[in-house]
Amino acid sequence: KRRLVLVLGDQLTAEGAALRAADKTRDVVMMAEVRAETDYVGHHKQKIALVFAAMRAFAEGLRADGWTVAYTRFGETGNSGSITGEILRRAEEHRAASAVTIAPGEWRLRQALEDCPIPVVQLPDDRFLCSEAEFAEWAKGRKSLRMEYFYREMRRKTGLLMAGDDPEGGQWNYDAENRKPAQADLFRVNAPRFAPDGTTREVLDLVAREFADNFGGLEGFNWAVDRNGAQKALAHFIAHNLADFGTYQDAMLEDDPLLYHSLLSPYLNLGLLGPLEVCQAAARAYAAGKVPLNSAEGFIRQIIGWREYVRGIYFHEGPDYTARNHLDQHRKLPWAYWGGKTEMNCLRHAVAQTRDLAYAHHIQRLMITGNFALLAGVDPAQVQEWYLAVYIDAFEWVEAPNTAGMSQFADGGVIASKPYVSSGAYIDRMSDYCGSCAYSVKKKMGEGACPFNLLYWHFLDRNRDKFAGNPRMAVIYRSWDKRKPEDRKMILGQAETMLNKIAQDAF
Ligand code: FAD
Ligand code: SF4
Repeated sequence: KRRLVLVLGDQLTAEGAALRAADKTRDVVMMAEVRAETDYVGHHKQKIALVFAAMRAFAEGLRADGWTVAYTRFGETGNSGSITGEILRRAEEHRAASAVTIAPGEWRLRQALEDCPIPVVQLPDDRFLCSEAEFAEWAKGRKSLRMEYFYREMRRKTGLLMAGDDPEGGQWNYDAENRKPAQADLFRVNAPRFAPDGTTREVLDLVAREFADNFGGLEGFNWAVDRNGAQKALAHFIAHNLADFGTYQDAMLEDDPLLYHSLLSPYLNLGLLGPLEVCQAAARAYAAGKVPLNSAEGFIRQIIGWREYVRGIYFHEGPDYTARNHLDQHRKLPWAYWGGKTEMNCLRHAVAQTRDLAYAHHIQRLMITGNFALLAGVDPAQVQEWYLAVYIDAFEWVEAPNTAGMSQFADGGVIASKPYVSSGAYIDRMSDYCGSCAYSVKKKMGEGACPFNLLYWHFLDRNRDKFAGNPRMAVIYRSWDKRKPEDRKMILGQAETMLNKIAQDAF
């Protein structure tokens, strides 16, 4: 009996489980651009454009490969506006009694498919190296689920950078070498250019018209939209940027938003590249002596470590994960995150590049926008919605654990052993933002003191009951307690004033 094969916008893998399970001569592939998916958060324009353009290109590829594809375009007559609505419509049209798909990467859509009036089989997504079942097995009986131990298992499982049973070079992790600030460099090779083809131009016009009020600009759209392009992006990164990736991984520069980062996350998350092929390419470059171990290891750890680990956590922790608020923070997300005015140079730059490129690298996400929201007491649900909306690579399985867990400590320490907070000194060390800022990073208090310096102590002070017992934080509390009582009082008072200014979007 004929089945529908539902291919979602982030399931653009020709060997995906659902296509493998289907019969090309009988079954009908269905893909749909629908309102329910464009509107559950107000996505960045480039994100909608990339997903639609990549979906259209993928559908063409399937047709060329002999599949029957029922493709619903955005705004087309009859478009029911939701995935389940489209399943019902296509089922009737093609006389199909059931559908098969890869289980979606978020609880919301998994539930919607379960509630669909016709049966929809959700197959495990085997594009990941660690299945949900394997992760549950790893997590069973463990007191804490730290990434580093998970990562070692994944190294053993994949054999990547292994010398027999031991890690290549004798250490699992070379992060100690990966914390250098970067200098402006005219010879740094940035991302390759991807000129939009006809399909992409059509989609860019559609998005400009239909999503005019969404955050972000389309002018900087420079993403590959098919596997071919994604493979070029991978080859470019391995040839030009991987060698220095590790060393400058945490660096930030005002005029260089990309540095040595790969920009491969959207391709991995849409399914245009597989995690293993990406890591094997990095391992080969190391074996050929073209890149140092700290870079190859650091890069591979992000993918077989962090990426697989956060997905494991998301499904292991369950649908309530995104609603957690361990630190009981309830302030609103400042308007500056949507481009509103702020004198904070680092925040302004991180947001501006996010608006222009739908991209910021990890340390900007963690130590600028994330750090500031956490220190400023912002409701983690609002923070999470922002990250889910504004980044090109944001899908809930990866965005939520990074935001709620790693960045906002809203999960109470499932992912992070301590909150990722810092004063301005860290940002000053790792970036060139502070030199041209209206605030002074050297000032710990008083007029013009960097907001990070004030809010850092306010955060620690207001959460003393939660963190003072954490051995990794005891020394910080000791240094705070050693300060003169009148200084502490003054800093906390000025932090309160700053919080009020933030609430009024005047900072
Ligand atoms: P590179 O720096 O070149 O890293 C290589 C690859 O490693 C990335 O392509 C990515 O696939 C993977 N990777 C690196 N760090 C992580 C991580 N922490 N979790 C998962 N994969 C990782 N990543 C997303 O893909 N989608 C998100 O929605 C997302 N939201 C984030 C929110 C916050 C608050 C933070 C702190 C991080 C978030 N990340 C997210 C992780 C990371 O910032 C991005 O994966 C990375 O910046 C993507 O750019 P890149 O491809 O140039 O990465
Ligand atoms: Fe950011 Fe503070 Fe530096 Fe200004 S002084 S750029 S607010 S860290």
